[in-house]
Amino acid sequence: MSIASTHTAAPSSPSAITRIETFLVSPRWLFVRIETADGHVGWGEPIVEGRAEAVASVVATLAERLLGADAGRIEDHWQVMTKGGFYRGGPVLSSAVAGIDQALWDLKGKALGVPVYELLGGPVRDRARVYTWVGGDTVEELAEHALRAKELGFTAVKCNGATQLEHIESPAATHRIVDQFAELREAVGEDMDFAIDFHGRFSTAMSRRVLPLLEPLLPLFVEEPVVPEFSRDLARITAATSIPIATGERLYSRWDFRDVLAAGIAVAQPDLSHAGGISEVRRIAAMAEAHDVVMAPHCPLGPIALAASLQVDFATPNFLIQEQSLGIHYNVGNDLLDYLVDPTVFTFTDGYVQRPTAPGLGVEVDEAAVRKAAADPHRWRNDVWRRRDGAFAEW
Ligand SMILES: [Mg+2]
Repeated sequence: MSIASTHTAAPSSPSAITRIETFLVSPRWLFVRIETADGHVGWGEPIVEGRAEAVASVVATLAERLLGADAGRIEDHWQVMTKGGFYRGGPVLSSAVAGIDQALWDLKGKALGVPVYELLGGPVRDRARVYTWVGGDTVEELAEHALRAKELGFTAVKCNGATQLEHIESPAATHRIVDQFAELREAVGEDMDFAIDFHGRFSTAMSRRVLPLLEPLLPLFVEEPVVPEFSRDLARITAATSIPIATGERLYSRWDFRDVLAAGIAVAQPDLSHAGGISEVRRIAAMAEAHDVVMAPHCPLGPIALAASLQVDFATPNFLIQEQSLGIHYNVGNDLLDYLVDPTVFTFTDGYVQRPTAPGLGVEVDEAAVRKAAADPHRWRNDVWRRRDGAFAEW
């Protein structure tokens, strides 16, 4: 089955949407290209990692209503796309909307000749702090990779907290989790931050047991201690520790964020490609600000998602740090910079990225590279893990 699809309409006004195309490209991304009658092009990244084909299918359905319509009516399109199908929410629909929303903001910025952050009230900072992922099969490898990141100028890294876990682990396994981060702190010193991603692999009980043991190490934050099914119960975890708790990559709207903000998280991590795009993440940021919560948008994705994240970051007062995927373990075959005409927009210096100045999302997509890559679409899927007894384990 070919996933790349093209939908066209006759031009009715200069800003009418005349063409919507999707491209399934390596390593695991989906891009959308929207063209208007006056020849402007906007790009977005509508993706659920491992469910790209489903998202492309929803983009094709949404395209039926968008073709021929005015590209500039972003909020009206957002309302109709999220609510006009009667059924709403969830990762697939919200990510399809997110990618289209990014492309419409890209188009509007380009049509007006300004970066998107100018349309969101103008920049509130000149550079944005970024972190990089580090991993390793041993404690020594983890420390080595973190030190390499430090040499590259990064001031913060993030690593996974554990691989597959039992619901309640043994004392030995529990202490191994804590000890590896004690050694990491020892290796990088106290001038470097590290965040720990629990990846929803910990039960509520394990989180409550492990988090207090990590407190002396002062991690920047601990992410997704439990899966989002327990969003409503996160208060039991935030009450059990002084470590700032982060979550949000598997929440898809401001309504999904209500429970976790009320539960006392410290860091909100909506994903620009999952949580309804620039329009909705902008609103989630304002809700977070009202709870003294800072933003660290999730982005282990491609260059368009990162560009969209940065546009919001530069216009958001309560911003902490930005995730980005350069060199991440998922990026096999292609990496963050491969589909950009000018990859220097994502130069990281002293752990920061400079504010982009080009119109729209601030990046120029290498269309030829995208079309070439889409001829060989990926079929990326995450692993399925098992506990020691063979039962399903969170990945
Ligand atoms: Mg995560």
